[in-house]
Amino acid sequence: MGFKIAIIGAGIGGLAAAALLARDAHDVTLFERFPAPRPLGSGLVIQPVGLAVLDHLGLGHKTRALSSPIAHMLGHSARRVALDVHYPADAPGRGIHRAALFQLLWQGVQDQGVPIICGARVTAATPDGRGRRLVLDDGRDAGRFDLVVDAAGAGSDLSPMRARALGYGAIWGTVPWPRTALRRDQLRQQYRGASRMAGVLPIGRLADDPTPLAAIFWSMPLAELDAWPHRPIGDWQAEVTALWPQMQPFLATITRNEQMTVARYGHGTLRRPWSAGLVHIGDAAHRASPQLGQGANMALLDAMALAHALRGKGDALRDTHEVLSDYAAMRRWHVRIYQGMSAMFTPMYQSGSRSLPWLRDLALARSSNLPFVRPVLTHLVAGTMLPPLAGTRWP
Ligand SMILES: Cc1cc2nc3c(=O)[nH]c(=O)nc-3n(C[C@H](O)[C@H](O)[C@H](O)COP(=O)(O)OP(=O)(O)OC[C@H]3O[C@@H](n4cnc5c(N)ncnc54)[C@H](O)[C@@H]3O)c2cc1C
Repeated sequence: MGFKIAIIGAGIGGLAAAALLARDAHDVTLFERFPAPRPLGSGLVIQPVGLAVLDHLGLGHKTRALSSPIAHMLGHSARRVALDVHYPADAPGRGIHRAALFQLLWQGVQDQGVPIICGARVTAATPDGRGRRLVLDDGRDAGRFDLVVDAAGAGSDLSPMRARALGYGAIWGTVPWPRTALRRDQLRQQYRGASRMAGVLPIGRLADDPTPLAAIFWSMPLAELDAWPHRPIGDWQAEVTALWPQMQPFLATITRNEQMTVARYGHGTLRRPWSAGLVHIGDAAHRASPQLGQGANMALLDAMALAHALRGKGDALRDTHEVLSDYAAMRRWHVRIYQGMSAMFTPMYQSGSRSLPWLRDLALARSSNLPFVRPVLTHLVAGTMLPPLAGTRWP
């Protein structure tokens, strides 16, 4: 018999954890604050390591069918190449609409028969014997569990993390892929210094609609992000097109500011992502800007590591200490290295610095095609800089 486990948050990490743990015969209940779960935002890149988790869940085939393979990440500053990273030919990234990924994971959880309690915002998990007791925001007691998995994302009420707010954010939108010379297997970015970035990411299609889609984004400083809802849309389109004329056809269907979702970024890492009976995964444990495209993958890997750590321990275990310290050890260095890389690279692409974009264009971009640098960058984006689950042979 497995543990009685509560998972807080039906996002990418929470849904993956629910499906994995239920499959290992744990008694899982999933809590979600929204009355009807929904994905927020536009698209993202599933890296090869994230796809390996989806394969393990039996969702890889459908993920491949709904997403766009990304072979190449290419960015320009004026006419100069400033980002040039290739994926391995047999392991591309996968651009996918959040709603498509969400639907796949949601179905995966339902197939396992996991009870999902919606409209339940969990605000506390108080120690109770060897486990934790959950409290909802209306004061209701939601029961006692051997283990509580905090997968509540960046705004978690249970995580002690205090993330540092980053000075730049972005607006994101989803549009039909237009008639364009841009390739559907490339993530493209165009920079003005590091203060503005326009981007196009092919994200496949939704399950019930064959229209090919793109995620578009525009990064800017926080003050401008705050003013975004009142900015005349034509004025913004003119600014984007002036920086990158090829983006123009992607803007044709954006006629209202509300079509673009505002995203603010933060950076932070929990040194110890667990305490007795409570473990934090995904953005509740580590948060970074999306520049390296790793956040969703990290959440999937955390879920995988937790399932790994719990496997076969059910009856023999007196408390959760051993399991949770195993989980943390499995993920420690992968998380730390990627958090460090994100902290190092993000200001080169999103900041008010004048010297960092200069360094990026001069040194980083030029070196990216050197024979010994190229594979390092490929491993960096693919999520395989070091083993994602230390001490295991997975994947
Ligand atoms: C604009 C943008 C672009 C990104 N692009 C990429 C990318 O290309 N590749 C990539 O890998 N990552 C990307 N990311 C990061 C990625 O989206 C996140 O890292 C990932 O969604 C984290 O998953 P999670 O499960 O931890 O949290 P989330 O997916 O945020 O899920 C949290 C869930 O918990 C629920 N919840 C919150 N509080 C409570 C509560 N108290 N009680 C109950 N439920 C609660 C929420 O409603 C939500 O459903 C991007 C992020 C942003 C903002």
